Amino acid sequence: MTDTVTPRDIRKLKIEELKDFFVSQGDKAFRAQQVYDWLWIKSAKAFDQMTNISLETRELLSKHFVINHIKVDKMQRSEDGTIKNAVTLHDGLIVESVLIPTEKRITACVSSQVGCSLACKFCATARLKRQRNLSADEIYDQVAAIKEQAELFYGRPLTNIVFMGMGEPLLNYANVTEAISKITNQKGLGMATKRITVSTVGIAKMIMKMADDGVKFNLAVSLHAAIDKTRSSIMPINDSNSLTELGESLKYWYQKTKSKVTYEYVVWKGINDTEEHAYALLKFCKLVPSKVNLIEYNPIDDGEFKQASDQVLTMYMDLLERNGITCRVRKSRGKDIDAACGQLANKG
Ligand code: SAH
Repeated sequence: MTDTVTPRDIRKLKIEELKDFFVSQGDKAFRAQQVYDWLWIKSAKAFDQMTNISLETRELLSKHFVINHIKVDKMQRSEDGTIKNAVTLHDGLIVESVLIPTEKRITACVSSQVGCSLACKFCATARLKRQRNLSADEIYDQVAAIKEQAELFYGRPLTNIVFMGMGEPLLNYANVTEAISKITNQKGLGMATKRITVSTVGIAKMIMKMADDGVKFNLAVSLHAAIDKTRSSIMPINDSNSLTELGESLKYWYQKTKSKVTYEYVVWKGINDTEEHAYALLKFCKLVPSKVNLIEYNPIDDGEFKQASDQVLTMYMDLLERNGITCRVRKSRGKDIDAACGQLANKG
């Protein structure tokens, strides 16, 4: 009988497990580090690329393992330079990731789940039901692919990463944090943690866990309304996770991390465009040191939601700035290719 093994995905192994594998095969433990560098620093997609590993060892590896890797199947480029990638995962599911160039930065916007379970009324991703969490290496690969594109198309390094693609990162916390640790590791992409922002609908329990874990990346909360009734009407998560609970978790976050919170906020006509809403936002902002990004609305539907007028945005800005809260209007990028906030829905 020939001995057959079902190959496992080698990128799911921790370095210690890979060392154990080599030792169990009568080889040296240091081999694991060489292979790990190929996998995580050089993004090798096949064992044959590992040229400083002997042919015999490469054959042994191919007998026991596969390298599951994402494939960027389709790339679209916006007139403003934004690039959207349709990324095929090893099981054929698709997510999207986006490269956003500005004068000073190149930002990668990555997905954390296939689809999303949160049902925010204004977001196109909400229409794709959640199919599964992305694994740490699938998240890492999106960043590595955009890093390559930044160098190839813009001749500049990737500077920032935002978890603002498809899905809710805090509902896939373990894999998101594992990916971040590989992205920031010198034996990975070596990016600075302070250049990474995780954006969430604001799951209080998870924000407290992040605070306890002492994470060093930035936190952004998609607030959109600081009045419960309004927030619940557009973001169903608010029913079981009220603004009071969210506020308490943010106080805990600040107390533990001393890291400012960013609120993302879209102002819609007839939904949150009154002074009462602006004052409620101001009050919420005073809970912990914070700043506000007023995001331009990217229409995704037949007109249920409409961006409020410039006067309303100015009213919000004036009120916040007068009271010492930094507030910026964030223009959409990549709208023409459906790559802007809330537009990722695998339309291509
Ligand atoms: N689930 C996470 C990350 C994904 S969404 C979160 O909710 O934060 C990234 C940002 O885009 C969020 O602030 C979200 O509220 C916002 N967004 C969603 N749909 C949008 C739309 N149609 N126009 C503008 N911003 C939108």
